[in-house]
Amino acid sequence: MDCFAETEGKRAHDPLYQRRAATTPATGVPVDDVDSVVDVPGAVIVGAGPAGLAVSAMLGLGGVAYVILERCGCIASLWRHRTYDRLCLHLPKRFCELPLMPFPVSFPEYPTRDQFLEYLESYARRFAVEPVFRRAVISAEYDGESWWVYTKEVITAAVGGEQAVLGCTMTVYRSKWLVVATGENAEPVVPEIEGAGRFKGQMMHSSEYRNGDGYAGKRVLVVGCGNSGMEVCLDLCNHNARASMVVRDTVHVLPREMLGRSTFGLSMWLLRWLPVQTVDRLLLLMSRLVIGDTARLSIARPSLGPLELKAVSGKTPVLDVGTLAKIKSGNIKVSTEAF
Ligand SMILES: Cc1cc2nc3c(=O)[nH]c(=O)nc-3n(C[C@H](O)[C@H](O)[C@H](O)COP(=O)(O)OP(=O)(O)OC[C@H]3O[C@@H](n4cnc5c(N)ncnc54)[C@H](O)[C@@H]3O)c2cc1C
Repeated sequence: MDCFAETEGKRAHDPLYQRRAATTPATGVPVDDVDSVVDVPGAVIVGAGPAGLAVSAMLGLGGVAYVILERCGCIASLWRHRTYDRLCLHLPKRFCELPLMPFPVSFPEYPTRDQFLEYLESYARRFAVEPVFRRAVISAEYDGESWWVYTKEVITAAVGGEQAVLGCTMTVYRSKWLVVATGENAEPVVPEIEGAGRFKGQMMHSSEYRNGDGYAGKRVLVVGCGNSGMEVCLDLCNHNARASMVVRDTVHVLPREMLGRSTFGLSMWLLRWLPVQTVDRLLLLMSRLVIGDTARLSIARPSLGPLELKAVSGKTPVLDVGTLAKIKSGNIKVSTEAF
């Protein structure tokens, strides 16, 4: 009872609890559920992917205090846990390097997933970035002076070979600045598909796909033809699955390289001299020469050019790594039927 009274006494003098009591929490987190409050005299960074690591390194070098919070138990969890085995960087390495540390010269132009992870691990070590792991940010709000970043830590332990949830603690980080580096691909998006509940076969999101082992001879439908869909389809085909792809929307497919240079590098270079619409026209002309008319393969192009479309809608063009050849040879079937 004394102990409880002491806690209450402390809370009475803690501005966090006073302020929380005075305002309706937009976060919906009951004040009593908060286990501890950590004051950060600088920035809170959410997410330990490549962006979070880069921001941490730069702030650290600039002498700015920070805490980096990561919901998973490792850095770069997207690359470690949600990508397929055959993945290599889609862009040449010099466009994917983090500040102040180029990729090793021994790495190929398009590093593999494992090489990219190795690079990120050594980046974190070099700049002494030490995230707080298994700390998921559930909400954040600004009171005009500080950020109040609410986090949840799920405590688990191995019980009988399984991970059992033992409990959950809630910590609030209070900081001057908040950097959200949670990524644009960190959350898998599964659309509602009518009749999916009645489907008796296996259904998975591309973030769960690792490789085509076990799919030889099986009929597999890949829904969506972005970079992931196209490459998963290619991988399935290489594992002798009977792969088909549904293409509902228009999409720009470009060769990964043209005129002996990476398409991305060439685009960036041209953009230094020419307006985006002109660069788009050149890209489409060269694509036509290299890969032909994709509309004849049932993959129609959007009316806006690839770079302009990326700028206005965020939709990334697909860089072909071999899928088109499999479509042309009839090994991958394309359907435009919406479902
Ligand atoms: C198949 C595939 C291929 C790709 N190829 C390339 C490529 O070749 N080149 C390229 O530059 N990009 C590529 N990308 C894009 C990819 O998004 C980037 O490479 C890079 O991972 C983005 O870094 P990020 O730090 O912004 O986000 P992420 O890598 O997504 O990292 C975000 C981190 O935030 C954490 N997080 C999310 N929410 C919370 C929360 N609430 N609390 C705490 N932590 C949280 C996540 O666990 C994750 O670790 C590819 C993506 C995919 C899926």
